[in-house]
Amino acid sequence: MPSPGGWAEVPCARCGEREAGVAWGELCSNCLKLRKRRANRLSSIISLAGTALAAAWVSHRLPAIPNARVYAVVLVVAVYIILRRIATRVAMEFLPR
Ligand SMILES: [Zn+2]
Repeated sequence: MPSPGGWAEVPCARCGEREAGVAWGELCSNCLKLRKRRANRLSSIISLAGTALAAAWVSHRLPAIPNARVYAVVLVVAVYIILRRIATRVAMEFLPR
């Protein structure tokens, strides 16, 4: 039965609940929220581990140039942000339904 908005109501790929605006094989808003929460938790673990590795590596091989510590901090923060984004995206794609 089409909703007033004209979108066909398609069952969610995970729970089977019908919701307007969901494409075939996609998740409903509730399942998507759950999946995002799990992806966030996983990516925070991965990115913190990666950041700890990067921090250990940088502090171990700190070059003898001025402002080396500033660059090291910038690098570690960049590693965290990039890892976090990549891990979240990958987890959203590959987490089991
Ligand atoms: Zn669902």
